[in-house]
Amino acid sequence: MSSIPYGRQDINQDDIDSVIAVLQSDFLTQGPVVIQFEKSVANYCSAQYAVAVNSATSALHIACLALGVGNGDIVWTTPITFVASANCALYCGAVIDFVDIDPFTCNMSVGNLAEKLIAAEKVGKLPKVVIPVHLGGQPCDMEGIFELSQQYGFKIIEDASHAIGGKYNQEPIGNCRYSNITVFSFHPVKIITTAEGGMAMTNDTHLAKRMRLLRSHGITRDDQEMTHQSEGPWYYQQIALGYNYRMTDLHAALGLSQMSRLNEFVAKRQEFVKRYDQLLASLPVRSLLQIEGCYSGFHLYVVRLKLSEINKTQRQIFEELRRVGIGVNLHYIPVYHQPYYENLGFKRGYCFEAEQYYAEAISLPLFPSLTIHQQDIVIAALKQALLK
Ligand SMILES: *Cc1c(COP(=O)(O)O)cnc(C)c1O
Repeated sequence: MSSIPYGRQDINQDDIDSVIAVLQSDFLTQGPVVIQFEKSVANYCSAQYAVAVNSATSALHIACLALGVGNGDIVWTTPITFVASANCALYCGAVIDFVDIDPFTCNMSVGNLAEKLIAAEKVGKLPKVVIPVHLGGQPCDMEGIFELSQQYGFKIIEDASHAIGGKYNQEPIGNCRYSNITVFSFHPVKIITTAEGGMAMTNDTHLAKRMRLLRSHGITRDDQEMTHQSEGPWYYQQIALGYNYRMTDLHAALGLSQMSRLNEFVAKRQEFVKRYDQLLASLPVRSLLQIEGCYSGFHLYVVRLKLSEINKTQRQIFEELRRVGIGVNLHYIPVYHQPYYENLGFKRGYCFEAEQYYAEAISLPLFPSLTIHQQDIVIAALKQALLK
């Protein structure tokens, strides 16, 4: 039996042709296509600058560094995310902490953030950076988080790894209206793909420059940035400790080609979500509350089991679905459950709502090339598992 994954890429002949064209061109990396891809995403999102890198993880790292996160600084994120949203702070020597989620949207709760800030201010331990994550593509309450950032003086990195193609208050996610930097991921399960790849969006000239520097060894060829005069046409200077986080032109060509179908991909995801919502309405599950005025890219379709109405455990249902070839998944294990984080001192049960979520959540298959027939198979299997 062939199985239905929870997510997968959608590659067409145009995608293939554009990668081949780069293979036959002069530049495999550091060529013109990376710049074209950056322009395309910046235009789409109405952001001034886009910095393409080799993963969202790299983008999160250089975003933290560009905002000055260093030894002993404090960074907060949500526990219901991929580990990269928290690891980026640890790379910089910062201290990480977690703000519990809202029980309905399952994004970082602004109420909990406000309470935690009041407590942190009293002991002089305010965060330098807060990293909200748009879970499944649904934007966080960015106005609320932004207001608190003005009051308490922290910076904001939106981890929008799930969210390209979505809108917040009718405006594209990635325009950084309520954040300093927004990060996208182009991993194959995400909304568009470059195989591996990521991008950092900003409207701040200084941050854009800093991130460009850090993605390529901290090396500049710009006379303006050098500490002393050029010694000749060969000359470059390393003025910061950077990395090789560059995106290649091969990857960028795939991304640029995928951009032309971004709206179509999201529209298809939205259609499948509507259908899931309708056809699962009578079952003992609930989906994540969607906020009015927002348009989710729907990287994920998560349902939460109403366990008190079901005679089975989450694990039994999960295993039954996997057994019949439904590639369900769980996004996410609270980050502080990870042994690495336990070693930092975090205890199970740290965030109440995150624990509830983890005990109930299941991600169902959702991707543009899913068929109605496959979706019906998923729904029937879920019904069978829940009601039998
Ligand atoms: C996928 C993902 C990342 C990491 O993306 P990569 O491009 O694989 O490095 C970071 N944060 C979230 C929320 C993600 O889902």
